[in-house]
Amino acid sequence: MPLPALLTDFVSLLFPQLCLGCSDLLARGEDHICTSCRAQLPFTDYHLLPETENPLARRFWGKVPVQHALSYLRFLRRGRVQHLLHQLKYRNQPEIGRVLGCWYGAELARNGLLAHDVDLIAPVPLHPRKLAKRGYNQTDSFAQGLADSLQVPWQAEALRRLEHTVSQTRKNRVQRWENVAEVFAVAKPAEVAGKHVLVVDDVLTTGATLEACTLVLLAAGARAVSIATIACADR
Ligand SMILES: [Zn+2]
Repeated sequence: MPLPALLTDFVSLLFPQLCLGCSDLLARGEDHICTSCRAQLPFTDYHLLPETENPLARRFWGKVPVQHALSYLRFLRRGRVQHLLHQLKYRNQPEIGRVLGCWYGAELARNGLLAHDVDLIAPVPLHPRKLAKRGYNQTDSFAQGLADSLQVPWQAEALRRLEHTVSQTRKNRVQRWENVAEVFAVAKPAEVAGKHVLVVDDVLTTGATLEACTLVLLAAGARAVSIATIACADR
């Protein structure tokens, strides 16, 4: 056995790596999520559908022009995906985002999607106060994983979240949307002008956040905007 492998085994004996999906011991070569959990993930496979039949793309029809609307997994309450996202977001496990981003990017590239027509990947930014508290934006690692496997640059600071936000709870749907639209800005319009930007987020629920990001990017001169999330919830 070559020394590095021996060392790796020794280290994993001292510090066993557990699957972040099911807490079982990881086998050598498994990366944060075990093979069994990976096989059981609820993939949407939206990228295999014609765009007109993609239910996620349909959600944006009549609202904002989105080139591709993609989500890797279905978000089901109390399911494995919720557990993984909880670890990603609240348990200091940004590596989950990177692993899922790598897997998804490879799958998209295999199917000829995004790898050759996207110029820049932009994660939805966290509110600065939340970022300071959590220490990381859970969406950055997903952007990084996608960027690595699609061979496309990503930029954490392409989109900015503006400081002032009014409480969302007392507003109606239209007011809430207007409020969200005022929350984002493009940091340097010259860096997105003429580009096809892929905006990424962890979970898509109403889609309002991604709509707002799409609008500010198009207003700043982006040629096209696509969106990709780790998971999407049914409405
Ligand atoms: Zn597992």
